[in-house]
Amino acid sequence: MFLQNIDAETRQQIDNLLALYQKSGGGLPVDIELLIASLCKVIDVDIELHERFFCLRNNRGLLMPIENGFSIEVNRLDTFAERRVTIGHEIGHILYSFDYDLYEIPQQKPERKSTTIFPNKTVERICDEIAGYILCPPDLLTDFLEHFDEILYQPDLFAEKQQTVFLFRMNFMAKKFGIPLTQLYRYIILQFGKEKLIRLIKK
Ligand SMILES: [Zn+2]
Repeated sequence: MFLQNIDAETRQQIDNLLALYQKSGGGLPVDIELLIASLCKVIDVDIELHERFFCLRNNRGLLMPIENGFSIEVNRLDTFAERRVTIGHEIGHILYSFDYDLYEIPQQKPERKSTTIFPNKTVERICDEIAGYILCPPDLLTDFLEHFDEILYQPDLFAEKQQTVFLFRMNFMAKKFGIPLTQLYRYIILQFGKEKLIRLIKK
């Protein structure tokens, strides 16, 4: 079950965002600029996107309040696919966990605490899940997994030619969604359990 641990209001906002994105002509892999433009419309704030150097490579991103909205800062040392996941995660914070009162951003969800001040593992996991939901739309992900063995094996498509059929198919999906392979594994395990991945390997 997707987005099981978040409230109905946030889930609705996420679905509104994806609906507007699709209506605006957005497809796969998700067009980040169009996604952010859609988000600005859905929640009526400004969002800026910046790349910067974070000293630590595992410092993926930062969400900062700006006048009338947010600045999402991503790590320039990360790959393009990694940065996309970071942006999805920060969008999760904007929709799920930001304390709008504290930063005098349009009043919404005032009961929530900012994770900038109170980092919380549960919130981080939920924002990762929102990133997965946005970048790998659930109906498409489910469809891909149901027809996993129909993904045509074309070993020449990627640079690493010696990969197995399973790895090829997973890489193919990761490319389609524009996320790193490791994130795709994590997301499938989160949504469908480890067993699902093991069954796919054995196919
Ligand atoms: Zn976070």
